[in-house]
Amino acid sequence: MAFLKVIPLEKALEVVDSLPLEPEMERISLEEALGRVLAEDTVSPIDVPPFNRATVDGYALRSEDTFMASESEPIRLKVVGEINAGDTPEIELNPGEAVYVSTGAPLPKNADAVVQFEDVDRKGNEVLIYKPAYPGLGVMKAGTDIPRGKGILKRGTRLTFKETALLSAVGLSRVKVFRKPRVAVISTGNELVLPGEELKPGRIYDINGRAITDAVRELGGEAVFLGIARDDRESLRTLVEKGIECCDIVILSGGASGGIRDLTSSIIEELGEVKVHGIAIQPGKPTIIGLIDGKPVFGLPGYPTSCLTNFTLLVAPLLRRLIGRESEVRKVKKRLAHKVFSVKGRRQFLPVRIEGDKAVPILKGSGAVTSFVDADGFIEVPENVEILEAGEEVEVTLFG
Ligand code: AMP
Ligand code: MG
Repeated sequence: MAFLKVIPLEKALEVVDSLPLEPEMERISLEEALGRVLAEDTVSPIDVPPFNRATVDGYALRSEDTFMASESEPIRLKVVGEINAGDTPEIELNPGEAVYVSTGAPLPKNADAVVQFEDVDRKGNEVLIYKPAYPGLGVMKAGTDIPRGKGILKRGTRLTFKETALLSAVGLSRVKVFRKPRVAVISTGNELVLPGEELKPGRIYDINGRAITDAVRELGGEAVFLGIARDDRESLRTLVEKGIECCDIVILSGGASGGIRDLTSSIIEELGEVKVHGIAIQPGKPTIIGLIDGKPVFGLPGYPTSCLTNFTLLVAPLLRRLIGRESEVRKVKKRLAHKVFSVKGRRQFLPVRIEGDKAVPILKGSGAVTSFVDADGFIEVPENVEILEAGEEVEVTLFG
């Protein structure tokens, strides 16, 4: 049986920092890039738009030809052709000439303005201009949207539809991103059944398996849920070995408390080494960090709120480091909505819900699933603090 050797959270985080995993990169197609994190600064290889482009339907002309135009004495220009979007223009404008262009069409050579067709009169092959045009009227010049060589996206950017649209605009079909760490998720306990299965007396539905799997996915990792290990050595060892084989990281929940049937630490010890067993925080004291074949194995507490709090404290920073999202802010300052009591000598993490500028403590206890479902994150109550007053400023660490 394993005994807890309790260490401060900071020491546990140092262990997490020193785990032998480094970010890896891969090149993927833009088609698959949504939600991924860029691994390199990206520069536009082209001018956008790539050519001087008409922004209206009308007549492309040389603005200098129209400087004398007025309502009473319009300028007459000879219409020498038509250019539509997608055409490759070969026309070159001579003084006194214009060309009909549609929106999105490239301008003919020597043209520097497009006058909307609503503002002119067409008489046979002539167009009458009633107002001087200025250079650039009705034109988007090459590179004014995005010039060639301009940095458009930074390493560490998570790609939303806006960023994928930008990459599409500059024609990049492949991007370098951080590889998704593969994370095996295992629930433990004879009492657990999967949703959809019959709930026999004494059984409960597995919550942590779903919660951890999807928390990993939300962060940008690839999660593989391996199922529920029964509270026996064979069952647990089989799933842990499977996790080590298929994945970069293994996360277990439950069975970590050092109780007589809590096998997690003993199995990790058997297959590799236990680096941490016991952290001086509440909830989550019996948390385990181990290493098997150079792969981190986390044993998180069974109570769902404790499990997710410790996932956020210990596992999420590792996943962020591997996915290149370290710099993202996951903490907000709020004011406590009401007074809370803590136990002196315990460093406590309390789930809170955010309402405007207030953090509302949720006091159902970590055994209640609704504690973490209703919570947006948690606050820390330091060891030497027994009471936090209403209105006090607190820092909320956000879940997910
Ligand atoms: P343990 O750490 O295994 O002693 O579990 C502590 C408490 O958390 C027990 O009440 C378990 O039934 C509960 N628990 C453990 N794992 C899960 C899970 N995956 N989903 C929901 N509750 C769990
Ligand atoms: Mg258990």
